[in-house]
Amino acid sequence: MRIDLLTLFPAMCEAVLSESILGRAREEGLVTVECHDIRAYTLDKHRRVDDYPYGGGMGMLLQPQPIYDCFEAVCRAAGSRPHLIHLSPQGERFTEQKAVELSKREHIAFLCGHYEGIDERVIEELVDEEISLGDFVLTGGELPALAVADAVLRLVPGVLADEACFTEESHYSGLLEYPQYTRPPVWHGREVPPVLLSGHHKNIEDWRREQALRRTLERRPDLLASFVPDKRDQMLLDRIKQPPKKKE
Ligand code: SAM
Repeated sequence: MRIDLLTLFPAMCEAVLSESILGRAREEGLVTVECHDIRAYTLDKHRRVDDYPYGGGMGMLLQPQPIYDCFEAVCRAAGSRPHLIHLSPQGERFTEQKAVELSKREHIAFLCGHYEGIDERVIEELVDEEISLGDFVLTGGELPALAVADAVLRLVPGVLADEACFTEESHYSGLLEYPQYTRPPVWHGREVPPVLLSGHHKNIEDWRREQALRRTLERRPDLLASFVPDKRDQMLLDRIKQPPKKKE
């Protein structure tokens, strides 16, 4: 898979994408990630890429020309036209399902806005999809682009040690993940649930499933609306929902 980022701050993106799991995946050639400086494509002799919005108002807008030329250069260098995503608070809210969908594409690119945003015409001309990180406004599209790139790239085969690393995690299966513990077995008087130390795999699996269902019900009941429980899940859910028995 290949991802290109079109940004005014390639060094900021590069710093994040060179570290840890993604940095290793790039070094091993499992994924290709390139950061492109939109400013390098401006035809303005003062290297400007922004201007005042027509009609007045606060802030500056990114002009279409440098973005268009930057995208053309990306297409030429890659030899393919990527699915172009504009990170925007006006886009569709990002989810794990969207990450799974994007991870199946060969080539995607992220367009990061800044200042007051981007001239609408270049969005209309080039952009295939707009994605929002959530209902809040950031100063630029770099952090959302990095978040989406991270969520997508970790799903590419080989990037994580095993598929189970993501299939069991929150949201992938429609549930939140069960709580997890590591050594020591007792910390600040708090014990690790004994079943996890039992070595009994079936009991551990049942306990984890019940905890995942319980957490989801308590913290994100909205997720259960689109979750299809199997027989065992339904039995566990019924048990969790039962009011605690009164003591005689
Ligand atoms: N004027 C825009 C509006 O009201 O919709 C907001 C512009 S914002 C200050 C600057 C840039 O940050 C945007 O062009 C976008 O790329 C990025 N951005 C801000 N919040 C975002 C969010 N929640 N999700 C994705 N991108 C966001």
